[in-house]
Amino acid sequence: MRSVSRRQVLQLFGIGVAGRFWPQTPPIEKGAIVRTLLKDLPSDALGAGPVLFHEHLSNIWPIGSASSFTDDVDLMIEETRSAGRDGVRCIVDAGHPDMGRKIDALKRIAAESGVHIVASGGYYMQRTYPEKINTQTADQIADDLVREAREQRLGAIGEIGQQGGVMTDDEKKVFEAVGKVQARTGLPILTHNAYTGMRQTATPVPRETALRQLDVLESAGAKPAHVAIGHVCCLNDPKAEIAQQIARRGAFVGFDRVTIPLVPDAQKVTTILAMVEAGYADHVLISSDFYNENSLKKKGGGGVGQAVTVFAPMLLKAGMKEDALRHILDDNPRRFLAFVPRS
Ligand SMILES: [Zn+2]
Ligand SMILES: [Zn+2]
Repeated sequence: MRSVSRRQVLQLFGIGVAGRFWPQTPPIEKGAIVRTLLKDLPSDALGAGPVLFHEHLSNIWPIGSASSFTDDVDLMIEETRSAGRDGVRCIVDAGHPDMGRKIDALKRIAAESGVHIVASGGYYMQRTYPEKINTQTADQIADDLVREAREQRLGAIGEIGQQGGVMTDDEKKVFEAVGKVQARTGLPILTHNAYTGMRQTATPVPRETALRQLDVLESAGAKPAHVAIGHVCCLNDPKAEIAQQIARRGAFVGFDRVTIPLVPDAQKVTTILAMVEAGYADHVLISSDFYNENSLKKKGGGGVGQAVTVFAPMLLKAGMKEDALRHILDDNPRRFLAFVPRS
């Protein structure tokens, strides 16, 4: 087995030959932009390198706690700058106000870290919803989100979640609402699933939960090409059966909790290789759902860019071709995020 240095991984991302080896990949639409907090950019203007579509640079965890290590915005600027040195060009913060996300913190990180930041919007899951969700219709929720997205330059909607295996009525309403938001604005949607990996629970999450999310989003008008079904890597699905069903329907599959051991990373590697082998490399997205203080570089962890510093080398060691890895980390998230703004 050959060993891969961090330098080799970085060199790999510096080459930037988007689409060259991937003739089947749908092209990014003409006029499409990635809406970062600071400006709208054509996807190739982000610079060559990985884009991480689901991390948390400002949040409160566990939700309801009085404070968070991310309250130290200077620390998060330095950690994000360090991810930039690891090659990361753009990070989507997957939180929103009901997760303790502070937009002003993200604006400072965007302005001072040198890494493009996309802010997101929406509602997390039943237990975090503001009271108004209970009485609003899906259309009213959508109206609010469209307005917030415009006022705050949000470039994505998510993470939109459900706390258990079956959506509550309110959760279904929120999924419908964000499907409508995407139909109206073009904004990409990323979701959260409650999969628990190898851990047995009293109320197991059905394997098909991810597919049911896609059902609701599509029936509300969302285009699968701009939907990422999240945390599929926390389903114990080594043959990638559910992941392939999502991909066949045209959506992205989120391997977005790499380094979180609900499913061992070695199995995530196997599953991703199975996706590539089956011809679904175009539908794989990788990110780490960064939320844990111990993952900070300052604490000796892999940092905000741990999907690149820690996980990507595992894929290369397991035999993934370099152009496939670059395609997944570099091209796929750009295609997911880039949309044509509607007036
Ligand atoms: Zn999540
Ligand atoms: Zn998350």
